[in-house]
Amino acid sequence: MERREFLILGLVFTTSAYAQMFQTVPEANATLIQSGKDKYACPNCGMHLVKFYKTSHTHENHQYCSIHCLYEVTQGVIPEDAKVVDTITLELIDVKKAFYVVGSNVKGTMTRTSSYAFGSEKEAQNFISNNGGKMMNFQEAYAVAAEDFPEDFGKKATASTVVPVTKIEVPKDAKCPICGMFVAKYPQWVALYDGDKKFYFDGVKDMMKYAYARKLSSDKFYVSDYYKLSKLEASQAFYVIGSNVYGPMGNELIPFATQEEAQSFARDHNGQKVIAFDEITEAMVKSL
Ligand SMILES: [Zn+2]
Ligand SMILES: [Zn+2]
Repeated sequence: MERREFLILGLVFTTSAYAQMFQTVPEANATLIQSGKDKYACPNCGMHLVKFYKTSHTHENHQYCSIHCLYEVTQGVIPEDAKVVDTITLELIDVKKAFYVVGSNVKGTMTRTSSYAFGSEKEAQNFISNNGGKMMNFQEAYAVAAEDFPEDFGKKATASTVVPVTKIEVPKDAKCPICGMFVAKYPQWVALYDGDKKFYFDGVKDMMKYAYARKLSSDKFYVSDYYKLSKLEASQAFYVIGSNVYGPMGNELIPFATQEEAQSFARDHNGQKVIAFDEITEAMVKSL
């Protein structure tokens, strides 16, 4: 396939995948406070701010895609100056005046526990009647965002550097073609398509979406062993689904080199099932 045709296909797929997202608004309705080439990107994860607009937060002249990225940047120090998008009016409002609905069944950004803000308490109540969730103030919602970051978050990467392994090397500026996120930030989730051109993904889920959209054969896909970070042929790995460990884009298929390791991880982390590559289905990927 010619490169140009390939790029156009990519664009069409990306646009249609985003079209169903609750967070996305027409660009004309979005208030973006950054300028220049950084205008559209979350400075923490690289995701597109118009596509994830309704969960966007600002702090010190930066605009983040979500309370998750705001938390990651501020590291537990509550940002007094932060603003959040009002889900109804789409304007930026002071977080201290916002009514957050946390844990509704409307999908969130970068997290499994979604969080949407409202300037009006009545609108927040309305949202809860339709979609569930709990009303919170900013401090409470920020505390919930902290739960995305497990206490042992940095330990695995440190341990793995002791044992030399062949990893998937990710260029610093590589972005996932499905969600637009910078991939190098999430080494234990990296997946790769090594075809005419290389594409990097922030998780197996987005890799599979890419494979299904283009009907690509499995032999050019690679994943990273979750604990060792070693590069595995996707078709040879074993995957845990339904565990309590979440990737940068939420629920994931978590890869391991051996079935035993996958099973042991599943036991420790409430995994629902261990499956082989052939058992992954498009419906399963969509439901994650
Ligand atoms: Zn972000
Ligand atoms: Zn992605």
